[in-house]
Amino acid sequence: MEDDLFQRRSKLATAGVAESVEQEQEAKVLVLYTGGTIGMRTNRNGVYEPEADYLIPELKKLPIFHDKSYAEEQLMEEEKDLLVMPVMRSGRRVKYHIKEYNPLLDSSNMNMNDWSKIANDISTFYDDYDGFVILHGTDTMAYTASALSFMCENLGKPIVLTGSQIPIFEVRSDGRDNFLSALVVAGQFLIPEVLVLFGNKVLRGNRTIKNDSGSFDAFISPNIAAIADLETDITVDWAHVFRSGTTEKFRIHSEMCPNVGLLRLFPGISVQLVRSFLQPPTQGVVLQSYGAGNAPDNRPELLKAIEEAINIGVIIVNITQCTRGYVDAAYATGKALYDKGVIPGGDMTAEAALTKLSYVLGKANWSIKTKSKMMERNLRGEVQAIRKEDISLQDFELIDSVAKALSISTKEETIKLREALYPNLMCAAAKSNDVQALERLRNTGGNLSAGNQDGRTALHVAAREGHHAVVQYLLHHGATVYSKDQHDHTPLNDAIISKHHQIITLLVRTGAHLTMHPIRIAMELCSAAARDEVSTLQAWKLAGADLNVSDYDKRTPLHVAVSTKKMSAVRYLLGNDARWDTKDIFENTAEMQAKKPGYEEIHELIQQKIREEKSGIPDSEDLQQAQIKHD
Ligand code: ASP
Repeated sequence: MEDDLFQRRSKLATAGVAESVEQEQEAKVLVLYTGGTIGMRTNRNGVYEPEADYLIPELKKLPIFHDKSYAEEQLMEEEKDLLVMPVMRSGRRVKYHIKEYNPLLDSSNMNMNDWSKIANDISTFYDDYDGFVILHGTDTMAYTASALSFMCENLGKPIVLTGSQIPIFEVRSDGRDNFLSALVVAGQFLIPEVLVLFGNKVLRGNRTIKNDSGSFDAFISPNIAAIADLETDITVDWAHVFRSGTTEKFRIHSEMCPNVGLLRLFPGISVQLVRSFLQPPTQGVVLQSYGAGNAPDNRPELLKAIEEAINIGVIIVNITQCTRGYVDAAYATGKALYDKGVIPGGDMTAEAALTKLSYVLGKANWSIKTKSKMMERNLRGEVQAIRKEDISLQDFELIDSVAKALSISTKEETIKLREALYPNLMCAAAKSNDVQALERLRNTGGNLSAGNQDGRTALHVAAREGHHAVVQYLLHHGATVYSKDQHDHTPLNDAIISKHHQIITLLVRTGAHLTMHPIRIAMELCSAAARDEVSTLQAWKLAGADLNVSDYDKRTPLHVAVSTKKMSAVRYLLGNDARWDTKDIFENTAEMQAKKPGYEEIHELIQQKIREEKSGIPDSEDLQQAQIKHD
């Protein structure tokens, strides 16, 4: 009887991966609702004001925001607080949780502590969601977006800020489209950046300014093109997506320095005003100068005040007052500033320069020299470091010749061809362990994170093949560890399947984590235990799996290893903290099974473990060895 049960279970365990694919075409998004017009209501005095506990119940009434029948029938008990969007054209469904802040704020009332709160929430829930949406007032959205782009280090998932000009529940409102699009972008597109979504554009957050107080297209990024356009199709400009290019894990730096300021020059500005602005506690100033970075060079007292401040450690960064363009040291009036030690801020927006300064100054263990150097460096795509001509698509020799062979002539067709060819070429290069080929493809504009027709990326392939150097190369150049293929497998799943322990460790260090449902993980582990495959169990453990998870019958890998008498698996599991006293749905524990005739050896191992737990001293050499081997 029990054997029958086991056979049925293990069949399911092997088939499980493919069977539940359809159900798992889902993305989970966390919405942090901080306030702003989007959720406001007109108060008694006839003005807009944020209102607590209003947005979520109202959204639940709108079918486009919440598929009630799906939620009632399909959501598990622990998911009941989720809202669920209807299925999209892509076949995906976005489930989302809204965390409402208390108090809700008009963004004009926000300060640096609010940025830290948002960053901390993202950090706390980072592994639980595919993407994040921040509902925020439009007035200071560009500041928050810029600040978060610096505070979120080694970001691998999308963070999309949005809001609206008219509250979401008014008859005419831009809020509904903006919020829905933000959920779609955060749930569907693995853009590892802090973004601002407004109207029909997705912009890099730290390049964005609020440009219009009344338009539905309130935001622009004056110095770079949009990251994505929201038209009939959503078109992402993947070649322009910024990638952190490290193998380090996501983390936040939330200590921002408050002693920073924006000083806008005007003709005849008094030296007293400049001096008082540069007084302690000021530690950093963004100087907004004229045109291409010019300031008067016929006012020695002004330049002296600047020089004195720099000498006592104040960092001064020069940006232009113009909406578009960058500071250039070509003019004598600009050069006078750099000669005094002012840092050229390139084409940064005021919001980006100010928040970057606050972030850099908040790094307690960086020297002034490092902080100044960092201000010049491109940290998150906020500044164009090197000006180079855009590489034209036609420059890509390979694409060019294939295009010719296929008689393709229009730019759109060439783009489509490139999108179809490059991911496959990169997968092929990864498969044959060819780092040089990957480098060539990258240099000609290939996006290392792009998936082929099955959603497989070069990282999936390299992880499956066990090509450590390729995995390292890809991670160093910012390939995402979070992309899922058509079976919802991440590169981490590939590394587990092929038991490449070193690669698993590398991926996990870069932030990869298990995204499968715990029951499916349990089925994989039980199945490995039944096959006595210790290295598979080790692979799952390295990837972060809990060896005590239980399947749909509440059976753990130890239950299975014991009942099928798989000695290596039993030893490994007991040596790695597996519990022998967990009850399955038939009220059986692994220990009870081991008491039956024929299980004497296993029974003795479990008894050793029990004695060890009671005394606190390991008395089993066997188990110690299993532990040592694993370590
Ligand atoms: N004052 C509002 C805010 O920034 C404006 C808006 O959301 O559009 O919170």
